[in-house]
Amino acid sequence: MQCPGCQQEMTPPGVYDDRYWCGCGRVAVEGETPEDIEIRERGRQQTLDLLDYAIALRGSGRATLLKEEPEMGQLIQTRGCGKCGGTMYKTVDTDENGNPTNEGPYVCQGCGNCE
Ligand SMILES: [Zn+2]
Ligand SMILES: [Zn+2]
Repeated sequence: MQCPGCQQEMTPPGVYDDRYWCGCGRVAVEGETPEDIEIRERGRQQTLDLLDYAIALRGSGRATLLKEEPEMGQLIQTRGCGKCGGTMYKTVDTDENGNPTNEGPYVCQGCGNCE
């Protein structure tokens, strides 16, 4: 299977995994189209960007800034990964009342698993 991002041959699934891997971070399952892979990759990148943002805020001691954005925003939700036991993250877009309007998939920071 070829990575649609860098045109490299992806690492095939191992015994305990059913996903193809690429060095650029993309993952794919057998039979997926490049579009499927790109859609997942976009969700993963969005989650990573948000995490970077949250970590940067925390690192600079300005974590309260997150609370000072009461209008349309995004939340990060976490849960355990069923595959590797790591932490999975997903982003939730919210409206000005804090109600969820759009949710991304959970993405595992440990193994790249998406659900
Ligand atoms: Zn790649
Ligand atoms: Zn995992």
